[in-house]
Amino acid sequence: MTANRIEVSWLLPNAVDPALANRIIVVDEGRVAAVEAKQAAAAGDLVLPALANAHDHARVVRLSQVGSLDVPLEAWLPYLTLIPAVDPWLASAVAFGRTARGGVGSVMAHYTRVQGLTDFPTEARAVAKAARDVGIQVALAVHCRDLNPLVYDPHDRLLEHLSPAACACVSRRFLKPPLPPAEQVAMVEAVAADIEGPGITVQYGPAGVQWCTDEMLRRIGEASGRTGRRVHMHLLETQYQRNWADRTYPQGIVRYLDEIGLVNERVSFAHCIWLRPGEMELIAERGATIVINTSSNFIVSSGIAPVGRMLRRGCRIAMGLDGLAFDEDEDALREMRLAYVVHKGSGFDIRMARADLLRFATENGRFAVTGQTDGARIAPGAPADLLILDWQRLAAELVEPDVPALDLLLAKARQEHVKGLYVAGREVVRDGAVTGIDLPALEVELLSALRAAFDTTADVRAAMPELRAALQSHYSGPLYCA
Ligand SMILES: [Zn+2]
Repeated sequence: MTANRIEVSWLLPNAVDPALANRIIVVDEGRVAAVEAKQAAAAGDLVLPALANAHDHARVVRLSQVGSLDVPLEAWLPYLTLIPAVDPWLASAVAFGRTARGGVGSVMAHYTRVQGLTDFPTEARAVAKAARDVGIQVALAVHCRDLNPLVYDPHDRLLEHLSPAACACVSRRFLKPPLPPAEQVAMVEAVAADIEGPGITVQYGPAGVQWCTDEMLRRIGEASGRTGRRVHMHLLETQYQRNWADRTYPQGIVRYLDEIGLVNERVSFAHCIWLRPGEMELIAERGATIVINTSSNFIVSSGIAPVGRMLRRGCRIAMGLDGLAFDEDEDALREMRLAYVVHKGSGFDIRMARADLLRFATENGRFAVTGQTDGARIAPGAPADLLILDWQRLAAELVEPDVPALDLLLAKARQEHVKGLYVAGREVVRDGAVTGIDLPALEVELLSALRAAFDTTADVRAAMPELRAALQSHYSGPLYCA
């Protein structure tokens, strides 16, 4: 393999060190072989460590495509059933291709929505193939769930409020008996043995405490402790989950997770909007990662995460897009900017420094996805995971010539500035296009597959207005009144 030489106008080598002007990065055998000074200030790009998206679902359908905008999370989740099942390789290739085009080199695919056209091990193989075809680092967090299929409580009362037709549909679609915990946990190990290798790892993906029995969570905590396999789960995303957790775990939900081996360096928690200070301190002390999903939290009305307070307590925080990027476009650069402007501070009180933001968008997420700490820096010997932005376009309107490169990145970089992406030395994006798959053609194919299968979810579409109303009254009812 011949070495690649990347011409750089500005290099952001890691989260803390100052930008370096006029360099050449030499990439060879998957690593940065050298970072050399460049003689003349010839045209080059802005290069930084590849971004990481530490919470996502390999989801391909946007809210506006299925008419589920402005629906709070608890009622929105059932809307995912409106999305017809399609070929899992096609769906995953599009999801990972869009992720790469958005500037991300490593992604958590918390696989909460199985297409289900085949058995799960076959589907997982298709997801792994899509990851390798695209070329980014993927952690497949295998979904484990066996509790509370409709609401965080017994659902009998809710069903009583539905018409017979809606009740029959909801029972058929949502209330299938789950596999026993032991089988679900064994499935994760079997899938891992089958698909893990360069580019893809497998994690336990319990949906969240409110969706898993104590037996399920204990088995996962025990297995993770024994094998070292990583764990990814939702935690305290909404005020309703907080309410449920306080009723169900009077000792504290994070303390409970800690007792069963699920608060440690192997674990990452998505959202954590409703964490309390003592819980932040415990998570920080144990070294677990919190994954913040700023756009998603706005879009499904979950709240604003207390990022400043988390940082002050030493929490490791990473970025996630959660399949709900602000403009429905998987643009990780815009997500990074949005998180920064929401969380950076109040007046002169800085709560999220620039170094915090860069760690959030690169090394902390990469760690949650891969478990590795050797990346997110561009230096000889480091893995060649590089994001290349079009510096000439970014800098085209400068008046003052010495505006720092990071200022421009934070002010305006979007996915259309993504020129290239290297992951483990492989050129995954070149001239703004994904190299391993024909993404535009696959997007067309996916859309026609989704439209062709639209009728397969007609029953649940018909039941949705009633279900949504019933869910709204459940979460506005006496159980959840403050
Ligand atoms: Zn999520």
